[in-house]
Amino acid sequence: MGIIHILSDTLAGQVAAGEVVERPASVLKELVENSIDAGATAIRTEIRRGGIALLKVSDDGNGMSREDAQLAFQRHATSKIACTEDLFRITHMGFRGEALHSIASVAQVKLTTRQANDVVGTELRVSGGDMHEPIDAGCAPGTTVETAQLFFNTPARRKFLKSEETEAGQIEHQLKLHALAFPGIRFTFVRDGQTVFDVPATTDMRQRIADFEGRELAEKLMRIRPVNAAGIHISGFLLPLSEARRNRSRQYIFLNSRPIDDKFAARAIRDGYGGFPTGLHPALYLFIEMEPALVDVNVHPAKKEVRFRRPADLAAALIEAISGTLTAHTKAETPSPSPVVPPDSALRDSPNTEEGSIPSPHTAPRLRILQPMPRQKELSLPVADTVVTDRCPSASAPSAHHDNKLPRGFRLLGILKGEYAIFENAEGLALLSPRAAMERIIFEQLLAAQKGPIAAQRLLTPVLIDPDIREIGTAHKLLPLFEKAGFHIIPFGRSTLRVEAIPAFLNIGQTEDFLHELLHFFTAGGNILHRNRSPYEPFASQLAKQYAAREDIAQLLRTPEVLLSRLFACEIPYCTAGGKPTIIPFSLQEIARKFQTT
Ligand code: ADP
Ligand code: MG
Repeated sequence: MGIIHILSDTLAGQVAAGEVVERPASVLKELVENSIDAGATAIRTEIRRGGIALLKVSDDGNGMSREDAQLAFQRHATSKIACTEDLFRITHMGFRGEALHSIASVAQVKLTTRQANDVVGTELRVSGGDMHEPIDAGCAPGTTVETAQLFFNTPARRKFLKSEETEAGQIEHQLKLHALAFPGIRFTFVRDGQTVFDVPATTDMRQRIADFEGRELAEKLMRIRPVNAAGIHISGFLLPLSEARRNRSRQYIFLNSRPIDDKFAARAIRDGYGGFPTGLHPALYLFIEMEPALVDVNVHPAKKEVRFRRPADLAAALIEAISGTLTAHTKAETPSPSPVVPPDSALRDSPNTEEGSIPSPHTAPRLRILQPMPRQKELSLPVADTVVTDRCPSASAPSAHHDNKLPRGFRLLGILKGEYAIFENAEGLALLSPRAAMERIIFEQLLAAQKGPIAAQRLLTPVLIDPDIREIGTAHKLLPLFEKAGFHIIPFGRSTLRVEAIPAFLNIGQTEDFLHELLHFFTAGGNILHRNRSPYEPFASQLAKQYAAREDIAQLLRTPEVLLSRLFACEIPYCTAGGKPTIIPFSLQEIARKFQTT
């Protein structure tokens, strides 16, 4: 007897199943994709015990004839590809013709199906790859696929499953992704006899998001200004910074209706924001549509990796869509003579209001009456004629360029513990951290370097610094960044640096000390700058942080109003570049709730 056996069809199916069917959620994905391809308008999923005991997907789609139903379980049986050229024009979800075959080889499957015009439907059972004779079934038009005892004949796979709880959670997440990608389909999910969700079909994406995330969050959605370029279409919604997360769990990105988890797209999105606080990931629901020929999706059947054929076009489109949206929303909220939105604004009762009515993209709703002030003009002095002085006017001191008025509707109530300023407005209380506020203000002043040169002030006597031998390399690498930020630092001999000018808006008392600290941080912080495509931002963020850390709180709190105005002149006033809050609101509702008066 030969050593090499031809794999039995069942065994081949089990091998293939290893790729297609990793766990209950991947079975679910395949079944739901088939339902979507069949033109379903309602898809109902029922599971028991994490989908292992039972996983049942019913749809009201086209259904199958009896012959097609039998064929559907054949390996590479698919109604979706006729010739190889079709492979490049795939618009369907599934096209490998492998899923049903694979699933049926590792579970007990019962399929019932009927086409609308047929008098009688078909019931077909396939268990561990063995197909039974089809029988008549009286069923509604559409298809139901029921898989029971998943992995009953592959105990090794079964052992790899996580708890029923985890598997059920994966299924729910997978279903949510499908539901977000196809708002026009009603999705119902029943788990162990309990309805987890039942979201009606809608043409309004905002409604579908609200069905999952709640009305409160949906009100904060900013519709992305659609971009259509180079065969790429971008649409969707952004959420304000306050909804950003430390991981990408709030990033829903779909490519031609498939969820993708793609680092390249994620990076382009950050760039669209003109940078994003390090450590945070923007929250969004983003839909990319592009010519299927421009992308390889099914690189791996179960993975969400994609390969873009024209990545630069995609990046450009994403950046345009996101930055355009943010600009539009910032403009829409630029202060007008009627700034104060009544506490219970119309927003709450009109779910379909367009985003123009959302006052601030960066704001949590309870903060929405805080109106950013128009951007103040920075002093811009060319280096050459800058005042020759060792110290510049304090960045924190009130300057002629600020009006000393508070942002509209604010009143200073006092100072808490010499540490925080307390303000009130129509919405309630707000606590301001002077240090954090300063950090944000300085950060944004440094970012201005991306638009034009930053004004510098020449030092009366240049400062010489001798970095540690380990730090000199870092120092040299940082020179272009320092230059951009308004410093003039010149290598002086092999291991000395000569600081001739510093940014005009900084009041660095001990320049030498300050720069030493910065070099130390970037040397110890390893490749933080190299890992970033635009290293200037993390650089500016650290500079601002360190600068703010040296600020004299008492001095800053002498003019809290100035600080608040300057803060609200910022693009993103509510947190530092590192994501720490600058101002913490306490709404009247919140206070009333604490007093148990509501
Ligand atoms: P693929 O989706 O890659 O074509 P599958 O194994 O998932 O392969 O399905 C095989 C075939 O069975 C499909 O091409 C389709 O014709 C048919 N089919 C599967 N599920 C359904 C369904 N829910 N409704 C109608 N037809 C279906
Ligand atoms: Mg399929």
